[in-house]
Amino acid sequence: MEMNKFERPLRNRKLNVLINRLDIHFPAYQAIWEEFQRREAGYRGEKSVNYYLKGLSSGNHFIFHGLRLGINDVFFQIDKLIVTSRCIFAIEVKNRAGELHFDKSFNQLIVKNNDKVERRKNPVLQVQWQSEQLKYWLEKHHFPNVPIEFLFVNANDKAILSADPGYEIVFRRSCNSDCMLQKVNQFSRIYKEESLSPKDIRKLSRQLLNRHTPLDQNLLEEFHIPFNKIKTGAMCPNCGTIPMSYKHKIWTCANCGFKSSNAYLTILEDYFLLIKKSINNAEFKKFANLLSYQVAYRFLASADLASEGKCRGRTYHPK
Ligand SMILES: [Zn+2]
Repeated sequence: MEMNKFERPLRNRKLNVLINRLDIHFPAYQAIWEEFQRREAGYRGEKSVNYYLKGLSSGNHFIFHGLRLGINDVFFQIDKLIVTSRCIFAIEVKNRAGELHFDKSFNQLIVKNNDKVERRKNPVLQVQWQSEQLKYWLEKHHFPNVPIEFLFVNANDKAILSADPGYEIVFRRSCNSDCMLQKVNQFSRIYKEESLSPKDIRKLSRQLLNRHTPLDQNLLEEFHIPFNKIKTGAMCPNCGTIPMSYKHKIWTCANCGFKSSNAYLTILEDYFLLIKKSINNAEFKKFANLLSYQVAYRFLASADLASEGKCRGRTYHPK
């Protein structure tokens, strides 16, 4: 049973808007682009794993996607969490292409891809750490002691996994996505006793969802991007050109000729993701490249937003 909706992570959405709107010559552009590609691959990997998760007997497995929890301001994120009455599974998903080799001597992952060799964090140790954090978190919130198992799942069909001989933790706790359920069932069979009652599970589910804190950073601050490096105006949904021009109540793309009457909605969405969570008339007029306060007001009033204040001081924010 899925307990929360699987969604594209907020950071991916923010990076996407930033990639669209950032001046391509900005020094950090390449690094931002690479992070975006990496996170999108991760997102696709997690999405593909969902297909296999559907194979779990629905009533007894409670599945949580991408929970991010904190203990005293230290946060940990678990790609997939499966709660059952007998044990809990923490699953780390990676969608990395190439040859993935686990090196036992230094506990590291070595990735070979297109003649490039890189060291990456060992995902088995990563998910082990997450499961330890989860254990503290459960203790802190007075839940019964329940066994936590951890697994690394490779979601990339073309990646080849290997490990040094005798690297037991890796052999035991890694698999390709098509073998994930087998692993989960294998671990499940170890535990015969029920550690969580239906009431405990209900309470735990509520707490996990309530305390889930998605990563929400201001990317302009994080990458030290001045506002003038951000392209303003509507983005053409057809070819990506910014800005479209607004005339006679219609937005038109000078590059491909695409026309839109509601491009203001994506402008607002982009503003809330990239700049801040509220906007006033002057800010919207500037960000949408509009010439008139009246037109800006008309758009703001017709968007489905909550507002505060009156006249010039009025600010709008998503409901
Ligand atoms: Zn266009």
